[in-house]
Amino acid sequence: MSETPRAVYIDGRLHPPEEATISVLDHGLLYGDGVFEGIRIYARRPFRLDAHLARLEASAHAIALLVPLDRAGLATAVRDTVRANRQADGYIRMVLTRGDGSLGLDPLSCHHPRLIIIVAEVSVYPPDHYVDGIRVITAATRQVPMASVDARIKSLNYLKNVLARLEAHEAGAAEALMLNHEGFVAECTADNVFVLSGGRLLTPPASEGALDGITRGVVRELAERAGLAFEERRLARYDLFVADECFLTGTGAEIVPVIALDGRTIGAGTPGPVTQRLAAELRELASREGEPLF
Ligand code: PMP
Repeated sequence: MSETPRAVYIDGRLHPPEEATISVLDHGLLYGDGVFEGIRIYARRPFRLDAHLARLEASAHAIALLVPLDRAGLATAVRDTVRANRQADGYIRMVLTRGDGSLGLDPLSCHHPRLIIIVAEVSVYPPDHYVDGIRVITAATRQVPMASVDARIKSLNYLKNVLARLEAHEAGAAEALMLNHEGFVAECTADNVFVLSGGRLLTPPASEGALDGITRGVVRELAERAGLAFEERRLARYDLFVADECFLTGTGAEIVPVIALDGRTIGAGTPGPVTQRLAAELRELASREGEPLF
């Protein structure tokens, strides 16, 4: 595995990392005008690549941004970049920006969307987070209303998440829970939130301000396979306080147990058995699904 990428894809070409540069007039940089995806590589296989590409296309379409390649072209670009980096286990970051334009924000000044693909090592939570579980705080920073930016758009605007994560660090917590403008649970700064309550797995619907996470979808599959009820439902902090188990899901985090919120212990205060089983099943599934790329 390489510390830094060996080859970075920009607009159809692979570049050595020191030459992988873009213009300061890119509206992704100037205005956060763009969308992105984070994809894991397990045992030389990009996990759920097609679902990530579909979400990238939907995010782009929702902000009237043209994707420069079709689905097959995107998949080829990702696979070629993974192979060029010989990254067996790692992380793929796809970034699609509005491209270069004028200094003003007008998106119509941008004529060529820019597609970037970076392959790198994955930065994961330390192993003890999975063994012991993590403590989470509720951030004062809220999710933006759906009427402003729909949470299903995985946009480059992560400032609210960054601010919420700073609050977590300030409080000595690993993650921050973000509420929507009504005060109900939306998601964490980079993960979806689940509780196990009365034998049912509950997670907020996207309409509460949650990204429609790919890992969230895999958990749904695993739950259904195990005969565990899965329900999208509005959740309050109260539901986390009184849950039997709680965990977060994300491409980087996988499934991480949550043992406390705002100083209140959740369940037994240790990672729950259902959480641990789902986490093991996710890793097992990811390690065998799909064909190795090299
Ligand atoms: N919510 C946010 C805000 C995220 O950035 C992410 C991705 N890290 C998730 C949820 C989880 O989504 P996925 O399972 O598709 O990675």
